[in-house]
Amino acid sequence: MTIEREKIHIWDIPIDRVDRTQAMAIFDELIAKPGVSMIVTPNSEIIMNASKDEDLADLIREAELVIPDGIGLVYASKFLGKPLHERVTGIDFADAALARLAKEGRSAYFLGSKPDAGNGVSVAKLAGEKKMAEHPGLVVSGARDGYFKPEDEAAIVADINASGAELLLVALGSPKQEKFIRKHRDELVNVKAAIGVGGSLDVWAGTLKRAPEFYQKHGLEWLYRLIQEPSRYKRMAAIPLFMLKVVVTKGRKKNGN
Ligand code: UDP
Repeated sequence: MTIEREKIHIWDIPIDRVDRTQAMAIFDELIAKPGVSMIVTPNSEIIMNASKDEDLADLIREAELVIPDGIGLVYASKFLGKPLHERVTGIDFADAALARLAKEGRSAYFLGSKPDAGNGVSVAKLAGEKKMAEHPGLVVSGARDGYFKPEDEAAIVADINASGAELLLVALGSPKQEKFIRKHRDELVNVKAAIGVGGSLDVWAGTLKRAPEFYQKHGLEWLYRLIQEPSRYKRMAAIPLFMLKVVVTKGRKKNGN
């Protein structure tokens, strides 16, 4: 049975109105059906980019599950009168997906992040080892870094297929990771679901610190990241600009913009 979906739309970009439990129920459904499902976890910065990048907007429309990963989206949905239940962070969702696979001894492939975590091992491989230790039963059957050339992509796809992995986590930053997934989804043989996970592999490997719980609970992860990496201030401006644009356009497309 297919789960009924409720969606909100911001500038013609659909977002699933799901909480954590509903998102996981949909994940279960997606990994039980044939074909590769794309799961995207947009925040306000990604939705802003999608409003200017038709390719990215189309990709989000095509995705089988669109999880609201950002406090900006929660505020915007309230303003638009169809409040999202909660923010479902991509990193927590990906972790829950790994825990789900672990129960059945299924496998995942980690692609992306730096080739060296500081000890000669790639961030992806280290994150894989940590997750296997954390979720007994989980098999991370392949891992490779995210610094490759376009001509390496065929070999990477072959490696993912040879690994037998059913879940593919791609950490190349957005929208590179989402575009990589869409480009290759039809070539993936065993993969049931693919998710772009941004900096998650860095957090799992321990090379990037996640915001303390206080910041997470109050929707202030952006503030923590700003304190850690002040050079990100330009990107951070995406949240207020996003809110301003939502208020001005009431979340609707205007003059084709
Ligand atoms: N990354 C990568 N290849 C690239 C660019 C980035 O593997 O060509 C990795 C980077 O090392 C990091 C992850 O992608 O682990 C997310 O990068 P960033 O923090 O820029 O992404 P965002 O904040 O947009 O999720």
